[in-house]
Amino acid sequence: MGKIILTGDRPTGKLHIGHYVGSLKRRVELQNSGEYDKIFIMIADAQALTDNADNPDKVRQNIIEVALDYLACGLDPAKSTLFIQSQISELCELSFYYMNLVTVSRLQRNPTVKAEIQMRNFENSIPVGFFTYPISQASDITAFKATTVPVGEDQEPMIEQTREIVRKFNSVYGDTLVEPDILLPDNKVCLRLPGTDGKAKMSKSLGNCIYLSEEPEDIRKKVMSMYTDPDHLKVEDPGKVEGNCVFTYLDAFCRPEHFGRYLTDYNTLDELKDHYRRGGLGDVKVKKFLNAVLQEELEPIRNRRKEFQKDIPYIYQVLQNGSRMAQEAAAATLSDVKKAMKINYFDDLELISSQSERYR
Ligand code: ATP
Ligand code: MG
Repeated sequence: MGKIILTGDRPTGKLHIGHYVGSLKRRVELQNSGEYDKIFIMIADAQALTDNADNPDKVRQNIIEVALDYLACGLDPAKSTLFIQSQISELCELSFYYMNLVTVSRLQRNPTVKAEIQMRNFENSIPVGFFTYPISQASDITAFKATTVPVGEDQEPMIEQTREIVRKFNSVYGDTLVEPDILLPDNKVCLRLPGTDGKAKMSKSLGNCIYLSEEPEDIRKKVMSMYTDPDHLKVEDPGKVEGNCVFTYLDAFCRPEHFGRYLTDYNTLDELKDHYRRGGLGDVKVKKFLNAVLQEELEPIRNRRKEFQKDIPYIYQVLQNGSRMAQEAAAATLSDVKKAMKINYFDDLELISSQSERYR
C-alpha cells in the first residue's frame, strides 16, 4: 500500500501564519520529500458552507485566495493534486453511508465541534450539516485512501472520528477502508498558534490573524500592537514569556541566524527570553525583532503570490484538472464501498444468477 496524503483548508478567508506553521509548510516539505505516492490538497468549500450557508459569495470568493496562497507557499500542481471538495459528489455519497455508523452522542462529544458551536453561537440552532461535518471529513480522508493527514492540533478529534468510522466499516463490511494517521507539527507552539489578540487560536473566523499575503506595513502594525504581558508596563519590569504572543511567534519562526541579521546583542532565543524575564528589555525591541523575522519569512511568499495573481484563469484550470483527478480516485473508493455494502446490484452477475435460481 502506498503512502497517500489528504489535507485541506476551508475557503473562509485568506490563509494566515497559523495555517502556515500548523500545516502548510509541512505539506510543502512532504511534497518535496518524494516519499509520498499521492498528495491530495482540498479546498473544503462544502464544509465551509456548513456554517456559512447564508453567505455563498464569501466561500466562492475565497476559493481563489486559498489556491493562490497554496501556490505561493510552494504547493506544486505537478506534484500535488489541488481540488475543490464540492466538485466531488462521491464524497456526499460516502458521508450518507458513514452516517449509519456514528451516533448522535458520539458527535456531541467532539471537543472541537463543541468549541466551534459555542464560538458561532449555534447552541440552540446547530445546522445539521455543521453538526455532522466530522463525518464528512471522514469521507474526504477515506475517499483518497489517505494514510497521512498533516494538520493542526484542532483536527485531532476529527482524525480520531475518522479512524473509528474506518474500524466500524471494516468490521461490518470487510476490509475496505484505510485507517489514517495524523501528522502534527514537531514544534509544540505550531500545534495551535494563538491569535494576535492572545486568544487561544489564530482563526479566520476570529479576525486575529496575520495573513500570508499581508503587505509589509500591515505586518508591522499588527506586530507592534500585539498582545504581550499586560503586567510588563515599564522596561525595567520583569516580564512573562509564557502566553506572550510575541514570544510564541518567535518560538514558531525565529532561527539562530536571525540574531546575526537583526538583533546582534543576543545569540539565542533563550538569551532574549531570560533578559525579558529578568526585566530591562522593552516590548518594542522584541516586537521590532519579530517584525524583521516575519518580514523575511513572508516576503518571498507574497512576491510569488503576486506572480500567480497575474494569471487567474490558469489557477482555475489547475483546480479543474485537480478536481477531475480527485474525482477519479474517489469514484474508485466509492465503488469498493458499495461492493462491500452489497449495494452494487447491477455489476454482480452472481447475485442475478442466484436470484434467478431461486425462482426457477
Ligand atoms: P475557520 O475559522 O473558518 O475554521 P481556520 O483558521 O480554523 O478557519 P481551517 O481552514 O479550519 O482554518 O484549518 C485549516 C488547517 O489549518 C487545519 O489543518 C488546521 O488544523 C490548521 N490551523 C488552523 N488554524 C491554526 C492555528 N492557529 N495554528 C495551527 N494550525 C492551524
Ligand atoms: Mg477551523
